[in-house]
Amino acid sequence: MIILDRDTYEAILAHCCEEYPHEACGLLVGRAEQDGAKRLVRAERARNLNTERAHDRYELDPQDFLRVDRSLDGTGYAIAGVYHSHPDHPARPSAFDTERAWPGVSYLLVSVARGRPAEARSWVLDEGTQTFREEPIRIEQG
Ligand SMILES: [Zn+2]
Repeated sequence: MIILDRDTYEAILAHCCEEYPHEACGLLVGRAEQDGAKRLVRAERARNLNTERAHDRYELDPQDFLRVDRSLDGTGYAIAGVYHSHPDHPARPSAFDTERAWPGVSYLLVSVARGRPAEARSWVLDEGTQTFREEPIRIEQG
């Protein structure tokens, strides 16, 4: 499960709509709670380096990853997940997403239909089967 406040959630949706019809991507900052749920504290926008197929692929800029990762040193927070949008496609991981997924990371997918947020779902890779399973999203009032 991922837990995030409404402001963070709205910020992610806004970014995904701004980039439409291209894929937006970014990083989810948070920490794991005792029960294994990830509590997110904010989202950081990242650049999508894929310009050839930006409508259906993303390649998160590694510089953004490093910048955010370094900024979290000693804070007790870490990069807990990655978000990206699927313009005019469902919020389900593509084969491409599955191939490139890391275990232990939450993948928050936002479906954007005609420029409006349609649906958000979160996924984690099952290491045994190398397939994604869905995890619940809980949005709390900030
Ligand atoms: Zn995708």
